[in-house]
Amino acid sequence: MKIFKEIVEIREEIKALKKQGKSVAFVPTMGFLHQGHLALIDEAKKHADIVVASIFVNKKQFNNPDDFANYPKNLADDIVKLESKKTDILFCPNSWEIYPDENLMIFEIKKLADNLCGKFRQNHFQGMALIVSKLFNIVTPDFAVFGEKDFQQLQIIRKLTADLNFNIKIIAVPTLRENSGLALSSRNSRLNEGDLKKSAKIYEILNFIKDKILLTNNEIDFKKILNNAQAELLKYFDKIEYLEICDEEDLRILKKIDKKTKSRIFVAVYLGQVRLIDNLIIN
Ligand code: AMP
Repeated sequence: MKIFKEIVEIREEIKALKKQGKSVAFVPTMGFLHQGHLALIDEAKKHADIVVASIFVNKKQFNNPDDFANYPKNLADDIVKLESKKTDILFCPNSWEIYPDENLMIFEIKKLADNLCGKFRQNHFQGMALIVSKLFNIVTPDFAVFGEKDFQQLQIIRKLTADLNFNIKIIAVPTLRENSGLALSSRNSRLNEGDLKKSAKIYEILNFIKDKILLTNNEIDFKKILNNAQAELLKYFDKIEYLEICDEEDLRILKKIDKKTKSRIFVAVYLGQVRLIDNLIIN
């Protein structure tokens, strides 16, 4: 695996590969890689000749400085994992080269960032859209692979790619989970054994909601199911940031479901300082 830190170097490399007619698939990450990230690499390999991964903990998408400071890192281990998957290129830029001075250009994201994580993490998606756009312009991939674990992010990236005419096909990969059902996440490394057990309840409760919601089509029962699920979540978690059922396409909050609308349950909870998110398709 070739490792590049400088923008000019990776640009040269990609230019040469493209000249040889090679296609490129890109997997952006913030590192501390797990099997979920590696599933994206596997998917990327199916689509293109060359797989480029990036590792960059993007300060601009953290609304909480402690969360940024505590974000887990292990580049040496990440390199071993990426090499085990025969990743061709790793791009791990320096922050000062990505953000050399004050950024005067900022994203405004309408509608898609209004609720769920967008509502609670001020400027998170603006920062995410900025780094993804920069990386798209640097790596110029033909394909880019993202996880459904961060479903709102995925939908915003799809829209961003279309709106800004990036010539990139966005590919989504379903969420990889522990045997317990807990969605794999770099942040899980901050949970102790007891916390991990509690965290498995998220998926159990999402499935409970799904089963119940599929049996109802009136607003009163719908609200009752969500209220009961909230009470259940609060037995295990310190705080619920949101628990909503949304239209999968435009992420608007639904008050009941119908057969025509693809819907998904979205949840964010806190266990101590650790914030956990998950989602599950309903229909
Ligand atoms: P991150 O390093 O958390 O920024 O994630 C990098 C990419 O990996 C994003 O596209 C995430 O959606 C994806 N990802 C993270 N966790 C999982 C998971 N458990 N299953 C599938 N994809 C994931």
